[in-house]
Amino acid sequence: MECNSCRSTDLQRLSLVYNAGLFNVKAHSIGVRGFSLHHGADQSRLSQMAAPPRKRSYVKVALLWLLGFWLAGAAISLMRPQLLGPRHQKDYGSARIEQDTVISGPVHATIDTVIGNVILAGLFALLAMLLWRVHRYNRQVHPEAIRRWNSSFMCQRCGAITQMKVSAGAA
Ligand SMILES: [Zn+2]
Repeated sequence: MECNSCRSTDLQRLSLVYNAGLFNVKAHSIGVRGFSLHHGADQSRLSQMAAPPRKRSYVKVALLWLLGFWLAGAAISLMRPQLLGPRHQKDYGSARIEQDTVISGPVHATIDTVIGNVILAGLFALLAMLLWRVHRYNRQVHPEAIRRWNSSFMCQRCGAITQMKVSAGAA
């Protein structure tokens, strides 16, 4: 087995490169600073290149969704005066209350509720879909990525990463 780009045969398993990097970082931070809060951030570049594929984080997705939820809420409240003009005005000038509440007030209130519920349902459906995608990735894609990582080597001369040819089904 040889490197795909420079034909060197000096290859090292990716997992070994990665673990060696982690070990160096730990030894380094213990020796110099006594402790380190961010082992991962200090990781040597080689080790980072050789890092195993990570599982996707449910928490990260949920936080992103929350941010989206908040942004959507902010956008809706910004748009509301235009979307639901009469109802909005109703909240202000007392002279308009009579006109608007009698004819269009309740209708607009209903539309407002319906739109709100639809948006809310959509957002929760989106959250469910996002979490499902994370689940599917972690269950189906990630194990395969780990398997590829385990059979990958890093060239010690040029740093290129080569995947061992798996003779699947040949034997
Ligand atoms: Zn090479």
